[in-house]
Amino acid sequence: MAKIIHYRSKCIGCGVCFEMYPDQWRMSKKDGKATLVNAILKKDVFVLPVTNYIQQLTQELTRACPVKIIKVL
Ligand code: SF4
Repeated sequence: MAKIIHYRSKCIGCGVCFEMYPDQWRMSKKDGKATLVNAILKKDVFVLPVTNYIQQLTQELTRACPVKIIKVL
């Protein structure tokens, strides 16, 4: 199954991911960074298994994130 990987510690809080996919991303009021909804913390990164459809949607977001910290595998 495909996965979204989010290197959250490097997030600059620009909000692009939330603006593009508000169902899948939240902006933390605590630290201002983006949070990938339902993702699991593994080592230093957040990982979320997704369907191929969501994987394809997220490809656009991997290019839109200004610091390139969202990956799809
Ligand atoms: S687009 Fe990237 S840098 Fe901007 S809030 Fe989302 S994860 Fe953080």
